[in-house]
Amino acid sequence: MKKTFDYIIIGAGSAGCVLANRLSKDKKTSVCLLESGPKSNTWKVDMPSALLYTMHDPKYNWKYYSEPEPYLNNRRIFCPRGKMIGGCSSHNGMVFVRGNPLDFERWASYDLPKWGYKNVLPYFKKLETWSGGENLYRGGKGPLKVNRSKIDEAFPLFKALIKAAAEAGYDTFEDSNGFRQDGFGTFDVTIDNGKRQGVSRAYLNKINGYKNLSIENDTDVSKIIFKEKKAIGVEVKKTIILRFITVIKK
Ligand SMILES: Cc1cc2nc3c(=O)[nH]c(=O)nc-3n(C[C@H](O)[C@H](O)[C@H](O)COP(=O)(O)OP(=O)(O)OC[C@H]3O[C@@H](n4cnc5c(N)ncnc54)[C@H](O)[C@@H]3O)c2cc1C
Repeated sequence: MKKTFDYIIIGAGSAGCVLANRLSKDKKTSVCLLESGPKSNTWKVDMPSALLYTMHDPKYNWKYYSEPEPYLNNRRIFCPRGKMIGGCSSHNGMVFVRGNPLDFERWASYDLPKWGYKNVLPYFKKLETWSGGENLYRGGKGPLKVNRSKIDEAFPLFKALIKAAAEAGYDTFEDSNGFRQDGFGTFDVTIDNGKRQGVSRAYLNKINGYKNLSIENDTDVSKIIFKEKKAIGVEVKKTIILRFITVIKK
């Protein structure tokens, strides 16, 4: 069966979900988002402390292993990667930290001026609603809800550690994504009201009803079809999930 779209996005991970959101805002454009893995509407994704379930379940994870590492006694190292709507954002550690401003400045110095910190900062602000409120460095209207971690409330030792670091002469920071990142301080998390804030929740859920966006989970892209140097289509393998209903006779 053949279907035609203006855009086909392969992989509904962090990048794919944002792209699908942006492209499908133009109602005249048809967009298809293809994802190998299943939907991520499960408590195993929503509940922050359940992340180990999806990390070790082949239904939700690619479960890669590295090649044998000669400097690690030839051990193969486990490299989990999310395989579901939301991709790795549906099973990551939920720590929200931007790249260091000086790294962006370094990129800009390689003749890439658009990657300088002052140019990328508006996009960082655009993506988030920070619990601390909008300011020069932080956003207040974006789709991704970002909160200050409550780790310092849960563990009194955490505050004591930061105080001790300051007394020992180390820098401390108020906001890990603000004016200065170096030093000791509390980090931000993509958890809101006890639930993981992955990209599917932030960027897809609100637009799921868009008629011009078709989201196909359990659909593995096996081939990209080229006409000369232009990608014009894909071949997919669809996994059909059959569920058995067990009737227990009393
Ligand atoms: C264990 C772990 C913990 C992490 N913790 C943090 C953290 O605390 N903070 C942080 O900022 N970042 C963290 N990250 C990193 C962050 O989550 C990723 O960098 C980010 O989500 C990657 O986004 P992406 O769009 O590049 O790829 P992904 O999110 O991996 O998306 C790729 C998607 O493409 C799909 N796909 C692949 N091949 C095909 C195919 N052939 N056909 C169809 N679909 C396909 C995959 O199933 C996947 O859903 C963590 C990552 C991991 C693995």
